[in-house]
Amino acid sequence: MATGHTTTKRRIALVAHDGKKDTMVALALSFAAELQDCEICATGTTGGRLEREVGLTVERMLSGPLGGDLQIGARLAVGELDALIFLRDPMTPQPHEPDINALVRACDVHDVPCATNLSSAKLLLAQLLRA
Ligand code: PGA
Repeated sequence: MATGHTTTKRRIALVAHDGKKDTMVALALSFAAELQDCEICATGTTGGRLEREVGLTVERMLSGPLGGDLQIGARLAVGELDALIFLRDPMTPQPHEPDINALVRACDVHDVPCATNLSSAKLLLAQLLRA
């Protein structure tokens, strides 16, 4: 897991494709109290919804198709993130598929926990935030 950062807060990146954004909002609402104590970054549109609908303070990157996934991947690669929740839509082709693969690959390279579906995300957040 990533180390080398002085903050004691958990640093979590949240990304959801359009078909999974409602799911992401519902997930974040169910962990809202715990996520308030985390440093959250997100791709642009996902982050906007989390700010408006969950009330989280979010550092918003570019939208995913414009490079937001890569920005998060860069941060992850230098040890600045503790986990990624990336709710991908497996039923819809994405124009930035290479960026998506690069981000998930970066998690594997750097051994950062990564959940790409709701059930895994619930387990990850429960362990990370409620342990
Ligand atoms: P978005 O990006 O939050 O800006 O929609 C997510 C993505 O498609 O990777």
